Amino acid sequence: MPEVVTTVAELRQAIARLRPARIGMVPTMGALHAGHVSLVTAAREQCDHVVVSIFVNPTQFAPNEDFDAYPRTLEADLARLGEMAAIVFAPTAREMYPDGFATTITVGGPSAGLETDFRPHFFAGVATVVAKLLLAASPDIAVFGEKDYQQLLVVRRLARDLALPARIIGAPTLREPDGLALSSRNAYLSPPQRQIAGRLNVILKEAIIRARQGNLWAAEDAATRALLDSGFDSVDYVAIRDAESLAEIHDRRRPMRILAAAKIGKTRLIDNMAV
Ligand code: AMP
Repeated sequence: MPEVVTTVAELRQAIARLRPARIGMVPTMGALHAGHVSLVTAAREQCDHVVVSIFVNPTQFAPNEDFDAYPRTLEADLARLGEMAAIVFAPTAREMYPDGFATTITVGGPSAGLETDFRPHFFAGVATVVAKLLLAASPDIAVFGEKDYQQLLVVRRLARDLALPARIIGAPTLREPDGLALSSRNAYLSPPQRQIAGRLNVILKEAIIRARQGNLWAAEDAATRALLDSGFDSVDYVAIRDAESLAEIHDRRRPMRILAAAKIGKTRLIDNMAV
């Protein structure tokens, strides 16, 4: 079982004891699934020891979002990590946001549009907590999932701009047999909703084929309609963007990425793929 620490001071002491070994960090909100474990495995491939942080970060949720309902399963998470992680950092909100906390990091560039259009608070919350986690741990590398592709680009930008003490590594999305990206939020889905959720990745793959053959806007539009026809209640966006900047496409020879967010009932799912 990993050593569990709850304060920044304890985390620094625990990591200092492991040095000079190479340390990898995997920031998470817990409710760990095989997708999180794949990030830990990726970190282990490059490092001697892995630190997993488990913190449901209040500042990245809006008041109307699922902060209270978000699954919290620390005991099961520790059992799942077993010997794979040396340290789990599971701070309280008070530890991460001490009384009078008044600092927020905003990242421009890749945070513009997409998630920000629907969750305007989100990336400032992510950037602030990720900066604090990386400054607390000073790992050699930190692994983030492509599942949250815009977040990965925002974190890369953040780490570069502030010279945070970690190299940022992106890891591929782990999926269920029907292609649904693993997510802690999949636990909210009823069996019929879970069926509908499985259509998202299929529709994105169809959109990629359409996009390669012709008009990008037509591919986005057809995917939006297909999601609604499949039973999604609303579609926040389906967008084909530059894979490195997330800017609108001007040059189709550059790498492109299709990204989507859609809701089934109250559950909001996101996914993305290389075009
Ligand atoms: P979360 O706990 O949802 O904040 O996710 C923690 C990290 O796990 C983030 O870097 C996510 O991108 C990553 N992650 C979430 N789901 C998956 C997945 N299905 N495959 C790979 N990584 C994932």
